[in-house]
Amino acid sequence: TTKIDNVVKRSGTAVMGGTFDPVHNGHLRTAVEVLDRYKYSSLTLVPCFQPVHKNQPRVTPSQRLAMVKLAISSHSLLSVDSREIDREGPSYTVDTLRDIRAEIGPNEPLVMVLGMDSFLSLPTWHRWQELTQYAHLLVVSRPGWEPDFISELSSFCENYRASSPHELQCAPSGLVWFETLTPLGISSSMIRVLARKCESIAYLLPEPVQKYIEQHQLYR
Ligand code: ATP
Ligand code: MG
Repeated sequence: TTKIDNVVKRSGTAVMGGTFDPVHNGHLRTAVEVLDRYKYSSLTLVPCFQPVHKNQPRVTPSQRLAMVKLAISSHSLLSVDSREIDREGPSYTVDTLRDIRAEIGPNEPLVMVLGMDSFLSLPTWHRWQELTQYAHLLVVSRPGWEPDFISELSSFCENYRASSPHELQCAPSGLVWFETLTPLGISSSMIRVLARKCESIAYLLPEPVQKYIEQHQLYR
């Protein structure tokens, strides 16, 4: 990257999928730390319509989308993509990455950011071996989750591991890298539990999202 007059030249696209039920500072801090380290042009949060591997969300897809919009509105490099919600049905990441790749063309770096917990479940994902055809995988640390890989994932890492993080800014796709970020032990499930018990969720997520949850009496 070049730095001219404090303006960093940015390129490449990052995406982060999730249920965002609700979006919280663990997601958002991950997003901004990745943008600082990797100088991608943007990072897009992609809320799923229907999570494939978990219980169905307790709030509607449009409420989860509305909370993500509130959360990112003050950050110019963060955006939201509603294609999985618009598409309905089960949200397969491989379909989303294939579509985004078709839109940005073959040469632009595309990276999918995911936490260690999600990466450990990768072998259960629909057509997971195809993900690297379309994007890099940038696996970020998450408190409570250690990189204990089953053999399928170990050999996946051996095949695709980048030799430096810089490669994830140059090559269009096909590599895996691990980043250690500021550990934040925040999860959507803990926020849902707190709200259910009528305990405070302040400072775990942006204030406009907290207000939205209170106004709409979500997670009671
Ligand atoms: P739930 O508790 O309902 O599972 P969650 O907090 O795990 O919710 P998701 O929407 O499932 O949130 O996560 C979306 C993505 O963000 C996943 O790749 C997940 O690993 C990552 N992620 C979520 N919270 C953190 C965190 N605190 N630190 C790092 N990564 C996180
Ligand atoms: Mg989760």
